[in-house]
Amino acid sequence: MSARASLADRMAEAASSGGRAAGYCWLEHPDGGRYCTRAPGHSDREHIDVYRGRESVTSVAGTAWRE
Ligand SMILES: [Zn+2]
Repeated sequence: MSARASLADRMAEAASSGGRAAGYCWLEHPDGGRYCTRAPGHSDREHIDVYRGRESVTSVAGTAWRE
């Protein structure tokens, strides 16, 4: 990978393979664009993306959904 990759390229990579590499469940939200940030193989079916889908910067819930 080039060190000259654009910010957009780096963000796109982080949004695809980066999450799994970092040790997240990374199941994609049914509506797309969000990925579970819990540990891989968590035993319940509640998936949560704590980084995206916040209603505001003060929200701590992120986006939660069930498989
Ligand atoms: Zn999950």
